[in-house]
Amino acid sequence: MEDYLSKTPQGYTYLPVKRKHMLNWGGLAVCDYCNADMEQGYLVYILNSCICPDCFNDWVKRAQTYTEDLKMQDEYQDEWYCHHINFGHVELDVKRS
Ligand SMILES: [Zn+2]
Repeated sequence: MEDYLSKTPQGYTYLPVKRKHMLNWGGLAVCDYCNADMEQGYLVYILNSCICPDCFNDWVKRAQTYTEDLKMQDEYQDEWYCHHINFGHVELDVKRS
């Protein structure tokens, strides 16, 4: 799964997802932060959220690196991302950036 995940400059992983993925895990394709309807969003483990590109970019600008968060991310992110995306069955058609 590491192959799918990208990292912010702070070291936090994220996964770009499309509307079909959000609907597939039972989400509403609505940004967890601003309630915008999303065609594309970002799953972010450390935020426990799926957020729109605008909110994602804002967050990346102001996020701080916390060692404890990175440890927690290493330990639990795989299960969390797999819960949202069945990597074996869903074509992500997204590239690691
Ligand atoms: Zn948003």
